[in-house]
Amino acid sequence: MREVLVRYIGRFAPSPTGPLHAGSLVAALASWLDARAHGGQWLVRIEDVDAPRCITAADQLILQQLAACGLVPDAPAMWQSQRSDAYQAALDSLIAKGWAYPCGCSRKEIEDAQALMGHTRERHTAAVYPGTCRDGLNGKAARAWRLNVQRVIDELQLDTPLTWQDRLLGSQQQDVAKDVGDFVLRRADGLWAYQLAVVVDDAAQGITHIVRGEDLTDNTARQIVLQRALGLATPCYMHTPLVLGENGEKLSKQNGATAFDASHPLKALQTAAQALGLPKPSDDTSIAQALAEWTKAWQEMDSPVPR
Ligand code: GLU
Repeated sequence: MREVLVRYIGRFAPSPTGPLHAGSLVAALASWLDARAHGGQWLVRIEDVDAPRCITAADQLILQQLAACGLVPDAPAMWQSQRSDAYQAALDSLIAKGWAYPCGCSRKEIEDAQALMGHTRERHTAAVYPGTCRDGLNGKAARAWRLNVQRVIDELQLDTPLTWQDRLLGSQQQDVAKDVGDFVLRRADGLWAYQLAVVVDDAAQGITHIVRGEDLTDNTARQIVLQRALGLATPCYMHTPLVLGENGEKLSKQNGATAFDASHPLKALQTAAQALGLPKPSDDTSIAQALAEWTKAWQEMDSPVPR
């Protein structure tokens, strides 16, 4: 029997590093459909903390593209660039508990310390911080702020590895202290890290369900540790399969994925729906009808995305 939810608030959280492309539209559509299928609300958050990577006016373009597809948020969008005070308050609370510490290491120093420990950095993986500044800066100037993961785990008696459930992928686990290490909360360049911003904002927007692309699965355990450290609720997670380009790589702005043709939003939606295993809508359908058909199909499918 379908679970009856008292409350469902979902979200789509694009980074305005370019217009929406086929891959990001899949995440947008999946999160919208899941919210509608549960009779919930759907919000949009513009994740523009990494200012140097953001492109002027991409935020407005994304909102227009979503609107052209009939995906309109139930409340005004939130911009992370306006949320510094909330991130600072979260960092201050972690510092007050002794769970965040300043780090004075340069990238080179981290790599050298890792090499000494015999760790080599694999392609596409973030380097595990060797913990150099955990017990003090040793005269170095503070550059970044990091979470003392092991201390949080010990003091809150979190399980190692941390286990969480994904609605599609099933049970997931990660040893955050060992496999990720003391991750950054505020970067050396003064910018807020995605991990801190996303956790603070999901809580501020009252998000109960997160539906996003599978490339973010690996971030979830870190975000759960931060939620626990900040005394915040953990939402339900679902990670949807990525749309791969012809070269087999994830579609992204970096590898040349183009924005969908704004004059054919239905076609773009159909491609996204197909990636989610949803039926082809009837001929001559309107966007509103197609969205209604897919919402029904989403409700009827036990696991909406075939794997
Ligand atoms: N802003 C992130 C991105 O565009 C998504 C964050 C999330 O859904 O948690 O990759």
